[in-house]
Amino acid sequence: MERTFIAIKPDGVQRNLVGDIISRFEKKGFTLVGLKLLNVSRELAEQHYDVHKEKPFFKGLVEFITSGPVVAMVWEGDGVVASARKIIGVTNPLTAEPGTIRGDFGISIGRNIIHGSDAVETAQREISLWFKEEELASWKSSLTPWIYE
Ligand code: UDP
Repeated sequence: MERTFIAIKPDGVQRNLVGDIISRFEKKGFTLVGLKLLNVSRELAEQHYDVHKEKPFFKGLVEFITSGPVVAMVWEGDGVVASARKIIGVTNPLTAEPGTIRGDFGISIGRNIIHGSDAVETAQREISLWFKEEELASWKSSLTPWIYE
């Protein structure tokens, strides 16, 4: 079953959006298999955003992600990587569609509330970066037959 890595960034936590965000993924029908709140180390932040290390916004991004607690999650389900990106909305919250998390709650690109893996391979890399195998719970919801035909 496909898995994706989702992180509620420090702005999402500070703004009390954790419950609303988790609820959106739950209501869609995806299964939560990993969840923790943590203060992110500089090392983890730099590894996570390694692909952006030459970008002008990299330093500010690392400062921001390490500025307060983050809620790290792994969600599971058919097509969850692409679907989560749609639920999240495009990178700039000002242009993100209403109804998406960023479209509903954000204004600035550097305060866009949430991260979601952009591809299946990226998700695998990010999940193993943020979670140990024993921190992930494999389970099947009893609602599965009501969600999947
Ligand atoms: N970002 C930023 N300024 C920019 C572009 C990106 O601060 O001009 C931040 C923003 O928080 C974004 C993250 O860098 O979520 C990673 O950028 P990416 O293009 O991978 O966007 P995402 O996959 O998060 O939509």
